[in-house]
Amino acid sequence: MVKIKLGVNDCPYCAGKGYFQLLLGGSETCECCGGSGKKPNKE
Ligand SMILES: [Zn+2]
Repeated sequence: MVKIKLGVNDCPYCAGKGYFQLLLGGSETCECCGGSGKKPNKE
């Protein structure tokens, strides 16, 4: 059983960079954090 611990402000996808590299080239804004590199506050 693997438990993934998510950081408070660190996005698990872009590692807090706000974007991630595409395999085909270029970069895409991380939708998870909205490009802020932080986890968005949702109420
Ligand atoms: Zn992100």
